[in-house]
Amino acid sequence: MFLGDFHTHSRYSDGRGTLRENVMAALNKGLCFYGVTDHGPANIGTGVRQEKVYLTIKAEAQRLKKEFPGINVLVGAEADVISLEGDIDLSLEVVSALDYLIIGLHPYILPKTLKDGFLFVLPNLLGRIFPGIKRYLIRINTRALIRAIEKYRPLAVSHPNLVLPVDLEALARSCAKNGVALEINTGHKYPKEEIVKAALKTGAKLIVNSDAHYPHTVGELKSGEELLMRYNFPLERVLNVAGFNAK
Ligand SMILES: [Zn+2]
Ligand SMILES: [Zn+2]
Repeated sequence: MFLGDFHTHSRYSDGRGTLRENVMAALNKGLCFYGVTDHGPANIGTGVRQEKVYLTIKAEAQRLKKEFPGINVLVGAEADVISLEGDIDLSLEVVSALDYLIIGLHPYILPKTLKDGFLFVLPNLLGRIFPGIKRYLIRINTRALIRAIEKYRPLAVSHPNLVLPVDLEALARSCAKNGVALEINTGHKYPKEEIVKAALKTGAKLIVNSDAHYPHTVGELKSGEELLMRYNFPLERVLNVAGFNAK
């Protein structure tokens, strides 16, 4: 059902497989597209060492394209939102060198400024201990993501509502307006029904990705397919079913 898997990790960040192993796994699953999206450099302990690493990944992808002409190898990034204003941990120079961009929220990141540390990153870490601040977290997380969507127009927002809470409907409305997809992430077990409902309600697109950190989970998208079927989601609004246009 799916033409490609556009959110996966390799050894360049915290994935266990080499890019070559991942590409071979995608080929074996019968995919036409394989996209690697290693974590941005602000992701503590898991991100790429520095943003220039994406240029190394691009060079390796070029070689793999020649070696494996049966599959389109694309290089993206899963960039971190690092400020309340929706800044990400990649320069525009690197973003423009990538085939596409995915943005997402992660708890363990280096904030852009001290203020972002106190008002954005720290509260998200404290939210696990103090559930009373959830409403504040929803407000700041939704705002930061929407600003990032408006600034960067990424292909998709990764795993919305995973650990860090957001207002899914407001996020989906912004995605619909800016042509950005909400991700159904099959690599993390958490409730995703509300994402589908928000996309149905607002007209937003979806994309189903594995978030694979191992070659054997590349292209493992079955649970996403089941979810789409359960809600009778229009497949022409699912990016990796209907076809894909890298920018
Ligand atoms: Zn992620
Ligand atoms: Zn990921």
